[in-house]
Amino acid sequence: MQTQILGLLTPLMALMFAVTFAVFWRVGRMKRHVLGFAIGYVLFATGFLVTHFLPSDAIYLFHTTQALYSLGMIVYLVSLSERAGQRINIGSLVAVYAISAAALGFAVSMTSDVGPRLIIVNSGYGAMCAMGLTVLLTARRRTFVDNAIIAVLAIQAIDFLVRPNMTLMFERTIPAEEYRESIYYSLIGLVLGVKSVVGAMVLIGATIVEWTTSVRESGERDPLTGLRNRGSFEQVMRSLLPRAQIELRPVSLVVADIDHFKQVNDIWGHQAGDAAIAGFGKLIKKTVRGCDTAGRIGGEEFCIAVWDCDNGPAERLAERIRIAFARLEHDGLNDDIRLTASFGIATARDGETYEQLFARADEALYAAKSGGRDRVANAEIERVVAADFAADAEQPQLQRAAAEG
Ligand code: GH3
Ligand code: MG
Ligand code: MG
Repeated sequence: MQTQILGLLTPLMALMFAVTFAVFWRVGRMKRHVLGFAIGYVLFATGFLVTHFLPSDAIYLFHTTQALYSLGMIVYLVSLSERAGQRINIGSLVAVYAISAAALGFAVSMTSDVGPRLIIVNSGYGAMCAMGLTVLLTARRRTFVDNAIIAVLAIQAIDFLVRPNMTLMFERTIPAEEYRESIYYSLIGLVLGVKSVVGAMVLIGATIVEWTTSVRESGERDPLTGLRNRGSFEQVMRSLLPRAQIELRPVSLVVADIDHFKQVNDIWGHQAGDAAIAGFGKLIKKTVRGCDTAGRIGGEEFCIAVWDCDNGPAERLAERIRIAFARLEHDGLNDDIRLTASFGIATARDGETYEQLFARADEALYAAKSGGRDRVANAEIERVVAADFAADAEQPQLQRAAAEG
């Protein structure tokens, strides 16, 4: 009775972990690897139950548990690799399972001693863990949590490869019908229980970290474009400018504003306007580098902080975005209508604050607007701005569209 209850403990714990991961995945709308952890733990739990409740001399016992543990292991390793942004070769994992299943079939037909069976199945799991380990070790990202997961997987690999041999050295042969009374069986119960708890705790910790990071990031993002919102853009800028000064790197700021946007809303409606804003956001995201920071700082106003970039290249970047935007088609607008945007750029000076830099770039943007729109104005270049606001009061293309209804 006591052993029955103890035997139930590990599968129950594994099921509890499976439920925990499933809840994280569902409620937190987390990525697919978290669901993978849940499925993996269900398969492990089923394997533990089978080991415990099938007759220990049943010919199919080892085959069934090997299939369940291997499938669980494959799902678990695929999920861990996805979490680390890596891909594991599923074909190789399946091949390891196929080889050890064939070897197990041979061992079962040759002897009723469970020793060789244990060595074969555990070597298979160990080989799979080692394959997962090589994939995780080549991942570029390596946070504290990533290292903890790697350590757990390494311990699992060593345990699978070493434990059966060590135990069997002391116990010699274990006839199948005495398997449940063996030292090995009590040891495996303990080891699997501890491994399952420690492994799950590390994974649950990792999932909580991932969840809180995604919640924080979604609060920093503008939902329409996926770029940073104004608050988070300004926050980044306040630490980025001092860092650029210390590292002696130039930083340029590009401010952009879609031309005559009110008319877009008036003629084609707010939804079409939103689609045009999203299109501009997508174009910016596609154009800037990973080290740059881009944000939507107002309705149809965007900012890009171009890292390690002098005034000239920053102006050319703005020019590229301007030309690409002027060619972009927009859903919900007439096919022949193209929108334009105006740009102001400024390059950070020694000791300049974000507010000062922004004010200069914004002033340049104002100059681009008053100079005729659909252009880039550079705050670092002296120019005479034509004060001819009336000449460009309306955009002819949009006016024509409005007149045509
Ligand atoms: P200008 O060329 O001088 O920039 O002219 P404009 O019409 O674009 O002028 P302004 O920048 O003052 O107008 C911005 C308009 O953008 C006002 C507002 O109706 C619209 N707008 C602001 N936020 C959103 C939004 O999230 N979605 C949509 N569809 N429109 C927005
Ligand atoms: Mg505008
Ligand atoms: Mg505006």
